[in-house]
Amino acid sequence: MKPVVILGAGLAGLACAKSLSEQGKTILVLEAKPKVGGRVSSFRTEKGFLVDEGFQVLLSSYPELKTTVSLDSLHLESFNSGALIFNGERLDLLANPFRHPQKVFRTLSFPYASFKDKALVVSLLLSSQRFKTDTPLGKISTLEFLRKFGFSPGFIENFWRPFLGGVYLDSNLSIGSHYFQFLVRCFGWGKVCLPAGGMEQLPLSIAYDLPKKSIRINSPVRSWTAKEVILESGETIEASQVVCAFDEKMNSSSSGEKFRQVTTYYFTSPELAQLGWEKWLVLVPPRLGMAITHMALISSVSKAYSTSGEPLLSVSAIGSKEVKLSRVTQEVEQVAGKRLGLDWVATTQVPRALPVITGETSGFEIREGVVYCGDRYASPSINGALRSGRMAAESLRFS
Ligand SMILES: Cc1cc2nc3c(=O)[nH]c(=O)nc-3n(C[C@H](O)[C@H](O)[C@H](O)COP(=O)(O)OP(=O)(O)OC[C@H]3O[C@@H](n4cnc5c(N)ncnc54)[C@H](O)[C@@H]3O)c2cc1C
Repeated sequence: MKPVVILGAGLAGLACAKSLSEQGKTILVLEAKPKVGGRVSSFRTEKGFLVDEGFQVLLSSYPELKTTVSLDSLHLESFNSGALIFNGERLDLLANPFRHPQKVFRTLSFPYASFKDKALVVSLLLSSQRFKTDTPLGKISTLEFLRKFGFSPGFIENFWRPFLGGVYLDSNLSIGSHYFQFLVRCFGWGKVCLPAGGMEQLPLSIAYDLPKKSIRINSPVRSWTAKEVILESGETIEASQVVCAFDEKMNSSSSGEKFRQVTTYYFTSPELAQLGWEKWLVLVPPRLGMAITHMALISSVSKAYSTSGEPLLSVSAIGSKEVKLSRVTQEVEQVAGKRLGLDWVATTQVPRALPVITGETSGFEIREGVVYCGDRYASPSINGALRSGRMAAESLRFS
C-alpha cells in the first residue's frame, strides 16, 4: 500500500503523521535534518547545560496538546505566572493575582498600573475564557485592541509591550487581537512550562508514538507532486497523498514572506542564584533603548537544564543582529543591579523564528492535490503548528 508521505518532521508534520496513523493510514515522514522537531530543538553543551535553540515556552493549556501528546511524558516544570519588569533602576513585580495571591500587595505597588489598568487585567482574564482557538487572528492589531480596551499608555509601554513583544518577537504588537485574547487565556489560566528534557522533548514525544520506521531523517526532498516525491538523493517515492509540512518558499528569494527573528544568549554564574529572579520571566521594556528584551533563569524552572547545578540564564534580543557579548553582559548586570561575572555558554540565532501572519488563516491549503500545512497556515506558535498538522490530516480522512 502506498503511504501518505509527509514532508518535514516539525511539529506540524508530526501532528499530521500522528493523526493519520490514528486514522489507520500508512505514513512515511521525510525529514531533511538528522533529527525531528524543526524549530523546536535543543542540545546539551559539553559542560552539561541544556540549551534550547531560541528561548521558547510551552503553554500547558494549548488545546492541541491534549490530542497530540501525553503531558505526563514531558515532565513539565512551570514558571511563575507574571513577570519582573525592569524600570531603568530596579525590577517591579507584576504577578497574576489568581495564581500568586501572596504577591498581591507587591503587585498592587507596580508603579505603571493605575487602578483602572488592574481592573482591566482582571476583566481581560475573565473574558479570555471564551477564546478557545488561535483563529481567527482578529481584525485589529493587539496594540489597537489594548488602547481601545482602555489600558493606559504607561501600562502598555511597561507591561504589555515588553511581555507580548517577547512572545510575538515583535515589539509593534501587530498580530490580530483574537490571537492575543487566546494567548491571555493560555497564559492566565494555564501554566507556562518547560519540559524537563528541554523543549525538544515535545517533538520527540510525538515521534515516539508513531509506528516504527515511519520517519526517515537525513532525507531532504527536492520536488513533489500529489502522488510522487523525489529526494535530493534522486530516489523517487510513490505516495497515495502528499502533505508538505515545511515552508516550500523558504529558499525562494522572491517569496516576499517575512519572519520574526530572535537571538538568545546563555550564561552561567554562581551569582545568578542570589538574584531572587527564581521562576519569573524578566522583561526589559523597549522604551529603555536596551538591546536585550527578555530573560529567564531557566535552571531554576527545570533543574535538568544544568546537570552540574550551576545556574543557567537565557537572555533574548529580538532580531537576528548579533549584539556584542560585552554589551549583553553589561545590560544583564544593569538589570541585576550588580556585577555577576557571567560566563558565556552558547548563542543561538534564529532568523526565521516566526512567520509574519497578517490576515485570517485556514489551517491548511490544498494546491494541485498537495496538502500544505505548518504554523504559517494557522498561528505562529506551537499550538498553531499542531493544529495545522491535525487539520491537514483530517482533510485526508475520506480520501
Ligand atoms: C526561537 C523561537 C521561539 C519560539 N517561541 C515560541 C513559544 O514560546 N511558544 C510557542 O508556542 N511557539 C514558539 N515558537 C514557534 C514554534 O516553535 C513554531 O511555530 C513551530 O515549531 C513551527 O512548526 P512547523 O512544523 O510549522 O515548522 P518547522 O518547525 O519549521 O518544521 C519544518 C520541518 O521541515 C523540515 N524541512 C525543511 N525543508 C525540507 C526538505 N526539503 N525536505 C524535508 N524536510 C524539510 C525542517 O527541517 C523542519 O524539521 C518559537 C519558535 C522559535 C524558532
